This record gives sequence, C-alpha cells and structure tokens, in this order.
Amino acid sequence: MARKKFLMGNWKMNHTIAEAVRFCEDVKNDSLLKIARSKGVILGVAPSYLSLYQVKRHAHGLIVASQDCHYEESGAYTSSVSCGMLEEIGVNWSIIGHSERRTYDNETSFVCNRKIHTLLKHGFHAIYCVGETLKEYEQGLTKDVVKEQVLVGLMNVSKEDIGKIVIAYEPVWSIGTGKNASAEIAEDVCGYIRGLLEELYGKVTASKILILYGGSVKPNNIHDYLLQADVDGALVGGASLKSESFKELLENI
Ligand code: PEP
Repeated sequence: MARKKFLMGNWKMNHTIAEAVRFCEDVKNDSLLKIARSKGVILGVAPSYLSLYQVKRHAHGLIVASQDCHYEESGAYTSSVSCGMLEEIGVNWSIIGHSERRTYDNETSFVCNRKIHTLLKHGFHAIYCVGETLKEYEQGLTKDVVKEQVLVGLMNVSKEDIGKIVIAYEPVWSIGTGKNASAEIAEDVCGYIRGLLEELYGKVTASKILILYGGSVKPNNIHDYLLQADVDGALVGGASLKSESFKELLENI
C-alpha cells in the first residue's frame, strides 16, 4: 500500500495565540482538510507551547504537535513541558531533535532517545529530526552523522512502536537559509535512512515508515521533493506560517 503524504508546519517561536487561531480558521474556511483528504495528504502544525491548547481546540482535524517535550514525567525542569501535560490538552504528537534544540540546548541523540521512549509510553507519535551541519556536509560526513542520529535516537524502539515515528531529514544548512537541498540530495539521504530502517526493522516495516524532507521548502519547490521515491512529505518552517502559503504547499503536492 502506498504511504500517505505528510505536510507538517513547524511554527517555531512565531504566532501569538490569536494569530494561531486565525490560521486554523483560515484552514477551515479554505477547506484545506478537504483538499488534503482528496489528495491523500496528512496535514499538521506545531505551534508554540502557549498556543497548543487553543490550536488543538480550533484544529478541525489538523494534526497538532508540540515542538518538543521533556523525557521526565514531572520535576525540577524549569521551562519544560511533560507528555502528561500535552496529553491533558489532547496533543499526542511531538517533534523531537529539531536542529535548533540540538544546537541551542545541546540536545544529543541520547536525549532524543529518552524523549522518544517517554512519548511512546504515552502512546504519542514523534517526528524525529536528523540532519548534518554545513561543516559536516562539506566534509562528506552526512551519512555518518545521520546514521548516528538514527541508530541512537531509535535505540530500543520496538518494531511495534516504530510505526508511530516519522523521520524528518533536515540538513541544518538548509533550515531557514533559503538554500534548500536538491531533490536528489534529499532522496539520496532519505533512501539511506530507509535502508537503515530496513536493517533495524525489516523491509516491510521500513517501507511503511514516513520520511520527510525539511529545509527551505517553499510552494515552488515542494513538488520536486514529493516526486522522490523515499520522500513522503515535508517539514516546513517559514513557508508554513501564512495560511495562503500553507495552502499553496498543499496544492503543489
Ligand atoms: C524547520 O524549522 O524545520 C524548517 C525546515 O524551517 P524552514 O522551512 O524555514 O527552512
């Protein structure tokens, strides 16, 4: 069976609650979920923690993900949010390991692995981000870096649970820079990731796992990525902020 396509917006530290709710109303008024269903596309957004509750209430069927979560259930972790807190407001998706968390919080693949296990324990889905820095790319280390991130991040994740994980390949040098990786690079690395998943979980299971590309995806380039055999969708920052642009992304899939 063909894998579904997935368009996920990562709003980062953008949108007030009012702006986020307005986006949801635009999605409803423009019938984006109807368009998405007819194209076999899953649509989602990841608002800031502060907007999550209201976005969830106005989501009208959009997947709503947090941009992170803590691996502990509660405790002295100032500024963090637990899975239980997300669960309470009906959120059961979370992005893990975004390069901005890896860069600014020194988040390692080990930490991501702990977070993924906590999410799975709560029955959540995770969008696990991997990708190399510019320096690593220039040194030809892309696949080594991605391999470590995949193997450590998914350590001890069972074959039963792996279906709850979506992998997002996001080269750090392409995030928010306007320098998107070519569709060929995206396919080469996403195909490599699928190969790693095959080694871990077998061909049939790996063939069902969604792998996204992220990094300066725009309405005018999303189509090229979605034509690639191993790219199942996009994780989009800047171009997901305005509902008009989000609509164009969807239309161009
Ligand atoms: C991201 O934040 O995951 C991202 C890919 O951002 P942008 O689309 O703006 O490069």
